[in-house]
Amino acid sequence: MTPTTGTGVARILEGGPIAEGILAGLAERVAALTARAGRPPGLAIVVCGRSAPSMVYLRKILDGCARVGIAGRLVEVGDGEPGPDVERHLVDVLAALDADPSVAGIIVQQPLPKTVRLRSVIDAIDPGKDIDGIHPLNAGLLRLGYDGFVPATAHAVIEILERSGVPIAGRSAVVIGRSSVVGMPSAFMLVKADATVTVCHSRTPDLARHTREADIVVVAAGRPGLVSGEMLKPGAVVIDVGINVVDGHLVGDVDLASAREVASAIAPVPGGVGPLTNALLLAHLVRAAERQAVALA
Ligand code: NAP
Repeated sequence: MTPTTGTGVARILEGGPIAEGILAGLAERVAALTARAGRPPGLAIVVCGRSAPSMVYLRKILDGCARVGIAGRLVEVGDGEPGPDVERHLVDVLAALDADPSVAGIIVQQPLPKTVRLRSVIDAIDPGKDIDGIHPLNAGLLRLGYDGFVPATAHAVIEILERSGVPIAGRSAVVIGRSSVVGMPSAFMLVKADATVTVCHSRTPDLARHTREADIVVVAAGRPGLVSGEMLKPGAVVIDVGINVVDGHLVGDVDLASAREVASAIAPVPGGVGPLTNALLLAHLVRAAERQAVALA
């Protein structure tokens, strides 16, 4: 697909079918790992303090685990209002999970309570079990262009482009958002795929000046309606990553109605990168388990 002209009705890039294909392939690899180790590979999802949206998201990951045969479990640290010892407790829990050979991968749900320093938590995770790519070693490997674990959402951005046949090499891309979990890793992966990338953020004056030049626009700001059709180059491909609840409805950062008139393809919210993110997280878990099995052999 060549994103050069607006069609008037952009193609919708659906993450669900791609995710289904990934999950189908994982089930076989998980069965092989389980037969070899005598137990299924485990995923520990560490939750420190509770929030309703994150629990909904975590349930979806656990459902995915059950589908492919991964032993997924929630590990809850500190119930209710976290006290001053919660950081130490969390670090102790992570150390125990790192040492447990039945746990192949660990995710720590963010945001963490204010009393917990993210850096202490990151340092406590073994990079080989860091399947969502938050450890500095994995972030550094990505920055240097080597293979490590990348954040699953950023991986989903690239995967949905590639699997939908969108050319990346030689294209200009704008990423809106510079966080270490979405914006920057997406930008690094686009550069690795030979795009020319501009990263925009809340201090970027005249956002539209940048987006109007871009063949690919990745929007990860958490601001509903931030990007509309008039800000796009005709035929652009738009990947919406934002998650917002407006009037009780889940919406992204892109005004879908106006963007569809100008773009050639859009990965919308919901239904775009979201389902793919969860499938890729499980793919990372299986890769971690396979590496650990080889290391033990
Ligand atoms: P974040 O840490 O809050 O970062 C948001 C980024 O957007 C920041 O770099 C911020 O700029 C920038 N920004 C905010 N307002 C802006 C504006 N008006 N114009 C331009 N840039 C602006 O959020 P995140 O963790 O990266 O997540 C981004 C969004 O993706 C959120 O809605 C989140 O819920 C969603 N998300 C989705 C998935 C998924 O699987 N679909 C996974 C993770 C996150 P500054 O750096 O200057 O503050």
